[in-house]
Amino acid sequence: MHHFDRIDGALHAEGVSLEALAEAVGTPAYVYSSATLTRHYGLLRAALDQHAGALGEGLIAFAVKANSNLSVLATLAQLGCGADTVSEGEIRRALAAGIPAGRIIFSGVGKSDAELAFAVETGVRQINVESGAELDRLIAVAADRHAAPAIAIRVNPKIGAGGHARITTGGATDKFGVPIEEAYDLYARASASPHLTPVGLACHIGSQITTLEPMETAFRTLREMTETLRAQGHSVTRLDLGGGLGVPYHGQTDLPSIADYAAMCARVLDGLDVEAAFEPGRLLAANAGVLLSRVIQVNERADGRRFLVLDAGMNDLMRPALYDAFHDLVPVRLREGEPAPYDLVGPICESTDVFARERMLPPIQAGDLVAFMSAGAYGAVLSSEYNSRPLVPEVLVNGDQVAVVRPRPSYAEMWAREPKADWL
Ligand SMILES: *Cc1c(COP(=O)(O)O)cnc(C)c1O
Repeated sequence: MHHFDRIDGALHAEGVSLEALAEAVGTPAYVYSSATLTRHYGLLRAALDQHAGALGEGLIAFAVKANSNLSVLATLAQLGCGADTVSEGEIRRALAAGIPAGRIIFSGVGKSDAELAFAVETGVRQINVESGAELDRLIAVAADRHAAPAIAIRVNPKIGAGGHARITTGGATDKFGVPIEEAYDLYARASASPHLTPVGLACHIGSQITTLEPMETAFRTLREMTETLRAQGHSVTRLDLGGGLGVPYHGQTDLPSIADYAAMCARVLDGLDVEAAFEPGRLLAANAGVLLSRVIQVNERADGRRFLVLDAGMNDLMRPALYDAFHDLVPVRLREGEPAPYDLVGPICESTDVFARERMLPPIQAGDLVAFMSAGAYGAVLSSEYNSRPLVPEVLVNGDQVAVVRPRPSYAEMWAREPKADWL
């Protein structure tokens, strides 16, 4: 569900016409819907609250890497959302957006000593430790500060899942987390250290997962491990179940619902007496955003192949080039006529700057506006200024209100970031 619908023939973001927005802000531009973010958070919150007996408070910690715009984070912060972060920068962003440290989880496979120190000093809710080497460094960092931060051990349950091999994280060869046996060892070492407070286990097995089974299997593993750790005399009070639930990029109607997901989690954790935490990224943000773009021209070859050349490129939306991701492309205003196949390409000088091949589209012409749907997660965060294209702006809509929440830089601003070496 989202709030990008046609009003009088033109696609709108809530009450705001994308045609008017394109005039005001220019293209390409990301456009986010506050109502959609709020709706998705509310649906998940309500579903988890239904199972508070099994899941406890059920912290929702938005995966900041999916969309780290400060106004997006502030929108979620106002709803009571926490943050799952993977760098000092993301912790600082979450704090700047008004998310309290007590709702910030620090994850990530390669946290530097400086980042660990920052997290300890900030007093984040929990640091998810992903290796023995990291555990040792964190003990040293915490000892220096006479602290005993709460930690969870991120388990790699050897169950990889996700919409593409490049977004799977829980397989045996993936770099994330520690194998089950090693997790027991790390938990015991953490318990024995006066400088750590082990509170539980975490897992995140992949992204864009479209069936509940792999998650359920992984969560059952966490449950069994919790019981084993407790039998060994350890305290385990929290389980962090990660994110990864898929969204309907293709308009699929057979995806697990948020209610089914919450019910499955509750079934697995029933009677275990733990506080569950969730780290959704895509689920909250993907359908809350579109990438608005204009057709520069249509290149038609003698052999009949048609290229729709857009003013958005892979530097603005990298998911298709990075992992063959699918984004629906919708004309902001529909023209009458027979659909035809188009290759959707950007202006970047790379062969991978292709959003889709032979996509069926209604008649379309130079100057038309189009929207890449479901672009609110892993969209703007992955953008760059490759080919010296100014960083794509971000716009937040709230009802009839519009705010440019990351302006497009001017060329002068871009050059000002690169002071010339003084010998030149
Ligand atoms: C990326 C990530 C998430 C969010 O994944 P989604 O598929 O966007 O829900 C959650 N937790 C961790 C540790 C991650 O790295």
